[in-house]
Amino acid sequence: MNTPNINLALLTEQFGTDEKCRKALEQLRWKDGPQCPRCESKATPIANREQFDCDSCHFQFSVTAGTIFHDSHLSLWKWFIAVALLCEAKKGMSACQIQRTIGVSYKTAWYLCHRIRAAMQDVLPDKIEGGTVEIDETYVGGKKRRWRPRSDKQVVIGIRKRNGDLRMIHAADATSKTIREIINDNLGASVEVIMTDESQIYPWALTKIQREKHRTINHTRQYAHGDVHTNTVESAFSLLKRGIVGTWHKVDAKHLPAYLDEMCFRFNNRKNPYLFRDTIVKLISSPNLEYKDLIAKVQDAA
Ligand SMILES: [Zn+2]
Repeated sequence: MNTPNINLALLTEQFGTDEKCRKALEQLRWKDGPQCPRCESKATPIANREQFDCDSCHFQFSVTAGTIFHDSHLSLWKWFIAVALLCEAKKGMSACQIQRTIGVSYKTAWYLCHRIRAAMQDVLPDKIEGGTVEIDETYVGGKKRRWRPRSDKQVVIGIRKRNGDLRMIHAADATSKTIREIINDNLGASVEVIMTDESQIYPWALTKIQREKHRTINHTRQYAHGDVHTNTVESAFSLLKRGIVGTWHKVDAKHLPAYLDEMCFRFNNRKNPYLFRDTIVKLISSPNLEYKDLIAKVQDAA
């Protein structure tokens, strides 16, 4: 399980059967041997069954009990393949691709993608601290209509620390009030410099202290003035747009937040050779999210 940079050959060799996946999950979930989910006592494997018996309260359970893998009626090795595919896909992967690649129904593929992305969401720390942060907004989705306003397009606010993490947030609109909330949720007090374009949204969105750290670049005249530029966040936007064009022919607004989270997770973990393992650890340690709750959550976000 500690092999870095998982590929298809390793995946088949190490996790090609449910039994191998189950063993891997047992190691990841219980570093010091099986533990009862009810009373936390040690437990003993039951012969010829994929279950354990608690030494103290005699509750019988499997390694997937109470986790996201439980009740999914899907083989563990298909879960593992889906995680590997979502970790690997540089431009993102749609439920349709998962459906074709592992041979499950569209509904199952959609469910898998959302559950895996939901588990990935908790990885990022609360706020960006220190350094220079670029903020910009972009619009995705919707039909191209030359003379109409961008009403059917979705607003995405990008926040990127130079040489550091990326955040992409689906915003209700691009007003100063909305952007102020997003900035306050994502920027810590120790951020040193805030770079944006000359859009009038930003001076209104920033607090007095943030305005003192604010530098702007005029895009109609120049793309960069020495160190003052927003090129790093813009390159993240172009990656986002290539991903959406390539795999998400039309982005459904309600799926956009999950897609953005997945993209940022992959981006922020691009130097982590253990991304596959860490994602599996997140899944085995995340509380179970039922299908109906998931649908409700996705609809709330839209
Ligand atoms: Zn017990």
